[in-house]
Amino acid sequence: MPDPALPSAPKAFNPRDPNPCAGCSNCCEYLALEIDRPRTVRDFDHILWYVLHKDVWVYIDDEGGWFIQFNTPCEKLVSRRCTYYGERPAICRDYAPRECVRYVDQAAEKALFKNEKDFLDYLKRKRPAMYRKLMSRLAPEAP
Ligand code: SF4
Ligand code: SF4
Repeated sequence: MPDPALPSAPKAFNPRDPNPCAGCSNCCEYLALEIDRPRTVRDFDHILWYVLHKDVWVYIDDEGGWFIQFNTPCEKLVSRRCTYYGERPAICRDYAPRECVRYVDQAAEKALFKNEKDFLDYLKRKRPAMYRKLMSRLAPEAP
């Protein structure tokens, strides 16, 4: 999952560190959901719609899965601390700092679209035929 706030150089994970999350709350500041891999022009048009929204990103992970990411913090995060720790959902419990982007020296995503320019540039480069179809669909209709 791409993180909007982390520095680019990760720290080395120390298994003896009693609090590897000290000073960090990044994984509580967004959520990402897998979406169907786009195939049709309409699917790509939907991706365009997603990334036109403020604080919404789309990325492709290193296994080729497509995800939508909402950069919005959990309501239970207060001053960078979880105020819901005992009741926190399984996804929070299962998240392993050792594997998070703070400690892993590799981008979690193969391609990241923070806005329509990122997305259209990617399509133009990697899927030129789809780019042309999408552009012709978006072209103003003749009177
Ligand atoms: S799991 Fe990673 S991203 Fe989340 S708070 Fe801990 S160090 Fe930060
Ligand atoms: S419940 Fe706690 S651990 Fe889970 S996302 Fe919210 S603040 Fe983070």
